[in-house]
Amino acid sequence: SVDTMKNPEDAAGPRSGGAAGGELVRLENVTKRFGDHTVLDGLDFSVAAGRHVTLIGPSGSGKTTILRLLMTLTRPDEGTITVDGEQLFPAPEKQVREIRKKIGMVFQHFNLFPNMSVLRNITEAPVTVLGMSRDEAEVRARELLELVGLADKCDARPSQLSGGQQQRVAIARALAMRPQVLLLDEVTSALDPELVAGVLDVLRDIARSTDITMLCVTHEMGFARDISDQVLMFDAGRVVESGPPERIFGDPEQERTREFLSAVL
Ligand code: ADP
Repeated sequence: SVDTMKNPEDAAGPRSGGAAGGELVRLENVTKRFGDHTVLDGLDFSVAAGRHVTLIGPSGSGKTTILRLLMTLTRPDEGTITVDGEQLFPAPEKQVREIRKKIGMVFQHFNLFPNMSVLRNITEAPVTVLGMSRDEAEVRARELLELVGLADKCDARPSQLSGGQQQRVAIARALAMRPQVLLLDEVTSALDPELVAGVLDVLRDIARSTDITMLCVTHEMGFARDISDQVLMFDAGRVVESGPPERIFGDPEQERTREFLSAVL
């Protein structure tokens, strides 16, 4: 197949579309309520293809809800969400399923399939969802395991790996679907401190060596500063300010941002 990749970096590249610089993700006037609690209040923002955007802000400010909306794990009450020019919300279920294939997510808790080998964890969705041949899926899975530094763990079970290694498998599993957008939800928060750096290094590598679009919620401010093209500071369901990391971390304009950063840095 022409799709066979020569090096592991290609393995993480997007499947199609998302011309560099074009708008890949767009939220317009998105409101999300839980009961009478308005978590997102008329939110507007967009992410250009290939960009790495980080969401920071206090706990409960709505950051994870945005990733969950994009993953269609929850639906907005109002507004529209567009991915790669196609509407994700509101949209018919069939269209939602197609667009969902363009989006990969890594969670705080890695949620690997415990009864499958590492290799099988990575090949399962490409085979069953994308209809890829098992051989092709395995070639790609091995390349991705090399990319995340776990080429020797193909046959291991998740329970035989450290939390950091399991999270790196989860990253490889998400990339195996060749998403255009990778959503990262506090992917190091559940890890023992000594395992955090290895996972962040892998993500830095992916950010540097691929053109995948990343939308990342993190409490790791050093990491956010390193990988982001743009940082969005959230508070109470709104974007308080946004800009390049040098400015947000070095010279924030808003008092709320200064307070938040002095509390976490
Ligand atoms: P963050 O990621 O910034 O910490 P979240 O998006 O997780 O914030 O949550 C924003 C707010 O929405 C919080 O007050 C949280 O309690 C509330 N929330 C999130 N999910 C649910 C849910 N399923 N039911 C009720 N409230 C929720």
